[in-house]
Amino acid sequence: MTNAFTYAFLLALGGSLLLRLWLARRHTRHILRHRQQLPAGFADSIPLEAHQRAADYTVAKTRLGMLNAVADTLLILALTLGGGLQGLWQLSANLAGSDLLRGLILIGAVSLVSGAVSLPFSLARTFGVEARFGFNSTTPKLFFLDLIKSTTLGIMIGAPLLLLVLWLMSIMGSLWWLWVWLLWSGFSVLLVAVYPTLIAPLFNKFQPLQDATLSQRIDALLQRCGFKSQGIFVMDGSTRSSHGNAYFTGFGASKRIVFFDTLLKRLEHDEIEAVLAHELGHFHKRHVIKRIGLTFALSLGFLFILGRLIDASWFYQGLGLTSQSNALALVLFFMVIPAFTFPLTPLSSLLSRRHEYEADDFAAAQVSAEALASALVKLYRDNASTLTPDPLHSAFYDSHPPATLRIAHLKGEHA
Ligand SMILES: [Zn+2]
Repeated sequence: MTNAFTYAFLLALGGSLLLRLWLARRHTRHILRHRQQLPAGFADSIPLEAHQRAADYTVAKTRLGMLNAVADTLLILALTLGGGLQGLWQLSANLAGSDLLRGLILIGAVSLVSGAVSLPFSLARTFGVEARFGFNSTTPKLFFLDLIKSTTLGIMIGAPLLLLVLWLMSIMGSLWWLWVWLLWSGFSVLLVAVYPTLIAPLFNKFQPLQDATLSQRIDALLQRCGFKSQGIFVMDGSTRSSHGNAYFTGFGASKRIVFFDTLLKRLEHDEIEAVLAHELGHFHKRHVIKRIGLTFALSLGFLFILGRLIDASWFYQGLGLTSQSNALALVLFFMVIPAFTFPLTPLSSLLSRRHEYEADDFAAAQVSAEALASALVKLYRDNASTLTPDPLHSAFYDSHPPATLRIAHLKGEHA
């Protein structure tokens, strides 16, 4: 029962996959071409051996990502035109009497299938690539414990929320999408607010920073920047991986800055202070709030579109369905929409990179550009992040500017 929409969908899905694979291939080729030589300005701080290891690591990750993209596309095809969703929908009729419960079972089944497809890739990433390059410290036991925990959490939070959404869809008439948006937005705010204190501690241990001299320096910086929070926390990132990082999370009273223990171990005090100032820059410039606002606006737009599509039989038929229901519409829409929006990825990456530059500028003004630059070089080296990404790949995906540009920016050069 193909129609014009079937062809538009196939074109978007195929086009997105080809674009993904083409960018990945450019990326690996570019990296391998620059494997023998560090970019200018890095030769003193990073040994050639480390540069080559970063190249091999990035190439291995990118190749696994290519396979993953192919598998994801095949899964979407199997579920839509392949009849998978239609089959699951019919199966759910035998398990549930009410439409609400049937919808919940359908969405649960789809999540289970897509989880099963992504699991081998997640295993290959952790115990293949990450282990091969010496980053992995997750044991198989911890891996599966995490999986069980996150699945349980997903069901506990997701099932009631979905039931509410399906219920609103069934009783709110033609403006249901507005109500669902309000529910979704309220829920997202709640999640961001409780994530640092209630959810993250289920997976990691967070401890206040112990080092007294460092704490003093940090407190002075926090006061200077007018940042009131429950302080700085150190996370036991080393239990899963030797990658180091720092991040800013939550808002209001729950906001906090988190350092991975792996990062603290490797940086000098002035470098830690500079990294912290960068994170404070994100806070000062209200990047989290801006991101949330943007997400709200986009989700309102998408739900409005879904509100138009939900009664259109061509939408279901074009994607291989003979039945129509609210739950099917939700699943179809959110499964298919990324194929159409994938080409817009560079816009979001661009915004994110702009925020990174702003946070860097803030850190340079508050602490020191040199300290941040030397911290970044260490981070790139120890995380085996490539210094020579394909420029187009980087412009398309990267949330952070490439090292060469970022450090040039800190040094006031315009590369
Ligand atoms: Zn940042």
